[in-house]
Amino acid sequence: MATIIKLPDGSTKEYAEAVSAAKVALDISPRLAKAAVAAVVDGLCVDLGATIGEGTHELRLLTERDEAGMEVLRHTAAHVLAQAVCRLYGAGVQYTIGPALTDDFQYGFYYDFDLPKPISTDDLPAIEAEMKKIIGEKLVIERVDLSAEGARQQMLDRGQAYKAEMIDELVAKGIRHVSLYKQGEYLDMCRGPHLPDTGRLKAFKLLTTAGAYWRGDENNKMLTRIYGTAFFEGKALEEHMTRIEEARQRDHRVLGRQLGLFLIDDEVGPGLPLWLPKGAILRMELEGWLRGELLKRGYQPVITPHIGRINLYKTSGHYPYYEHGLFPTMAMGEDEGYLLKPMNCPHHIRIYKSSQHSYRELPVRLSEFGTVYRFEQSGELSGLTRVRGFTQDDAHIFCTPDQLEGEVESCVELTKLVLGTLGLTDYRVRLGLRDPDSAKYTGAAENWDRAENNIRRVVQKLQMNYTEELGEAAFYGPKIDFVVKDCLGREWQLGTIQVDYNLPERFDLSYIGSDNAPHRPVMVHRAPLGSPERFIGILIEHFAGAFPLWLSPVQVSVLPISDKTNDYAATVVAALREAGIRVELDDSPEKVGAKIRNATMAKVPYMVVVGAKEAEAGVVALRSRTGGDQGTRGLAELAAGLRREIDSKGAQKLVESCIR
Ligand SMILES: [Zn+2]
Ligand SMILES: [Zn+2]
Repeated sequence: MATIIKLPDGSTKEYAEAVSAAKVALDISPRLAKAAVAAVVDGLCVDLGATIGEGTHELRLLTERDEAGMEVLRHTAAHVLAQAVCRLYGAGVQYTIGPALTDDFQYGFYYDFDLPKPISTDDLPAIEAEMKKIIGEKLVIERVDLSAEGARQQMLDRGQAYKAEMIDELVAKGIRHVSLYKQGEYLDMCRGPHLPDTGRLKAFKLLTTAGAYWRGDENNKMLTRIYGTAFFEGKALEEHMTRIEEARQRDHRVLGRQLGLFLIDDEVGPGLPLWLPKGAILRMELEGWLRGELLKRGYQPVITPHIGRINLYKTSGHYPYYEHGLFPTMAMGEDEGYLLKPMNCPHHIRIYKSSQHSYRELPVRLSEFGTVYRFEQSGELSGLTRVRGFTQDDAHIFCTPDQLEGEVESCVELTKLVLGTLGLTDYRVRLGLRDPDSAKYTGAAENWDRAENNIRRVVQKLQMNYTEELGEAAFYGPKIDFVVKDCLGREWQLGTIQVDYNLPERFDLSYIGSDNAPHRPVMVHRAPLGSPERFIGILIEHFAGAFPLWLSPVQVSVLPISDKTNDYAATVVAALREAGIRVELDDSPEKVGAKIRNATMAKVPYMVVVGAKEAEAGVVALRSRTGGDQGTRGLAELAAGLRREIDSKGAQKLVESCIR
């Protein structure tokens, strides 16, 4: 019997006997043979050297253009890393788990080691040098299939107790055969596939070391993890390293402290940010602007407490769904207990329900910057983007079914306005739908169908590009999420709009219709920022701390050249303050050059320098954060120009180059 290979373009190749994927690649073209890194045979990812037996098989060759090809490359890099570590640190080295990472922003692979002596990042250059030698040796990477017992013995012979433990676990699951991969003297247990030889690995870099418990369990031994990344070309690696460096410089946790915006204090508690004066101003500006936009759109403000009776959340259905993410219940004597609120909806629903509503009053739009608490695992906490106490720029709209799509549409427009004003224009829209196979969603299927059709019609009407993702809905209804890409290409879910037919039923909400009979309203839950904490964390990185004028905590620094002009500087400060501009006076004894440097470091958008000449003429010398010297301005002229830029949210700029 022959071997028939069906290729993706529909053509076939025929061989008299079994054949390897590498041979087929070579028969198609030598160029393809050179570019191929692995193959997919009948849906299974295998080595190029794998034998394709007799019969008919589908074959697709993987090259560097496939994500699976990248995984093969990085997996091979992890093996080369382990081989280098064994060569350098001797027979006492035990290697455990070393996966490829393809969706991590920073890292491309890691390997966890149990080492005879500790190492640090200082040791990475030596390990890299050894890896380069192994690459130079062009060692063939060979797969050996063995019985589990045989493989276990081979690993034990090499002192690899962790690998033996993993094989034992496979055996317990009923697995009888295990594949080992051999390159030179190095042997590893792995499913593969890998590159055909170590020489195919070119652009790689080791990035850092970290501690990691065996199996992620803190009762186990602490191992040494070495992180690295690899690409098919040096250029891609270089671009990646530039991106990492840029991200490091923009890290909101570092900038937040440097610029005096916020603080996470262990004494107060992890994940509970403290807003410092400058951060509080930034946040108040952002929130104040949004509050104004809400009033214009007919929203009514409400304020509700931070806790509520547990029964409230049982009625809403939040309790079983959020139980694991909640702070523990506060038991109150005979009472059933209280919860720190994980969501604002039930409080707003109780406000709606406290009075009777006619169809004429609808929609009722209740808005609140409401703080909620969720008990995230400490390992997941990160600056402002993953916290345990945060605010939602929340609102709940109660409307008739006829009004619903119009309300959703205006929520979409508001979210677009918010993102557009802040220059976050690179985003995609995701419709989060229910997973029909999951039991975690509340309410009748027909309600879900209606709600999903509502949001689909709105995004189609607005001609938005969108994708539909099953399983991304809230437990009570489907949603429209804005997933924003920042300047480094990382994605963040920010604004959200959710349609809900279910909570109105669970709380038995009603309005009196034109027929004088009670009807069920529909709810929209929406938050254009998502959460001010998270949103500002992302804004800090997006602007690298250099905020547009209207959001800048300090808008102008006044810098007297010497203390002889301090009096005139005080007049300038008073005049700008009178115009409602946030201004700071630097009357320290430092030279004006140092003052300019400090204000630039603090990312203050404008500086005005005042010396004897300016004092005499009643003017100031203007500088911008990015554009340097901008000539002189009269005081009234300057105040009016700043005011215009502030009020236009940066659309009209005093100095064109100011905003990056
Ligand atoms: Zn492997
Ligand atoms: Zn809600």
